[in-house]
Amino acid sequence: MRRRRLRGFDQNFILFEIMAEIGGMQLETNSVATRKFTAILERHGLAPLRRTNPQTMQVNVGKLCNQACHHCHVEAGPKRTERMVRETAERVVTLLERSLQVEVIDVTGGAPELNSNFRFLVERARELDRRVMVRCNLTVLFVEGMEWLPEFYRRNQVQLVCSLPCYGRENVDQQRGSGVFDKSIAALKMLNQVGYGSGDSELTLNLVYNPVGAFLPPPQSALEARYKQELQQHFGIVFDHLLTITNMPINRFAAQLRRWGKEQEYMGLLVNHFNPATVAGLMCRHLVSVGYDGTLYDCDFNQMLEMPIYPKGSARPLSIWDVHDLAELNGLEVRVAEHCFGCTAGAGSSCGGELV
Ligand code: SF4
Ligand code: SF4
Repeated sequence: MRRRRLRGFDQNFILFEIMAEIGGMQLETNSVATRKFTAILERHGLAPLRRTNPQTMQVNVGKLCNQACHHCHVEAGPKRTERMVRETAERVVTLLERSLQVEVIDVTGGAPELNSNFRFLVERARELDRRVMVRCNLTVLFVEGMEWLPEFYRRNQVQLVCSLPCYGRENVDQQRGSGVFDKSIAALKMLNQVGYGSGDSELTLNLVYNPVGAFLPPPQSALEARYKQELQQHFGIVFDHLLTITNMPINRFAAQLRRWGKEQEYMGLLVNHFNPATVAGLMCRHLVSVGYDGTLYDCDFNQMLEMPIYPKGSARPLSIWDVHDLAELNGLEVRVAEHCFGCTAGAGSSCGGELV
């Protein structure tokens, strides 16, 4: 059974405590909040959560984006100025070269393509024979001066992970902004034209679904079949896989939950659907997240909550300039807090979709 709902005194008590302590769900990253998630891990014999050798280096090049979506955990937008500079990008490449166990570099933002070091990062990583994944919002293809993107992706065999929270116009425009659906469809057609989405493993086109409301994603495989049918039938679009991702109760989505008056209900949903089978595959165990300034994090969510990795016994956050090889992170304890319930609810959630 995929979605396990845990019952029993312990879990209910923890849920009660969480609800009582977080009140208006200002998600805490302090020790109290950490204990709540850890307490459930402990009851299942899964604590502490430790990092393994990183296989993916996820690089967040900054918060600049041509969109400003309601649910964005990065709080990205056209006016954000935080961005990765060349010196940092060069150090990322040096670290990638030394970290032989890292198979994939996953470039994200904001809209990562808008960063002036985007091409440099992609091309150098390809020269190092690593797979390159880019989290693309699709509409960036229509930003003035970005006409080169589809051919650049194809030439570098970039694996694309593209946001499309629904196959219907209304839901997409509601979450991502007016006109986004039509542009997304036009962008997908352009990507199909250069060879993406037809099953060629070198030109992978995956789509990302995230709920448009305060609920968990439906089962991934069933939704993928529906997306394929709808997009093919109405627009002639093909893609490889659909990844379902749970909305994290942080930043813009947390603010939206507060506006809806649904913050406690949503947090209760996540906690009540804790699934221990998801823990082994949590992305923080095998991925390292690099901030635009070079600081290292367990995942992009921790990055947005400013919860960096600390080396053992140190109060100074670890950065790309402190490590020679990312294998040095192997065995460090993951920094967890309440938002982690977003990764462990139901079938689980990660940058690669469902976990179980
Ligand atoms: S969700 Fe993606 S496309 Fe939307 S504002 Fe955030 S980074 Fe940009
Ligand atoms: S948010 Fe998810 S990926 Fe990040 S540390 Fe928590 S459980 Fe791990």
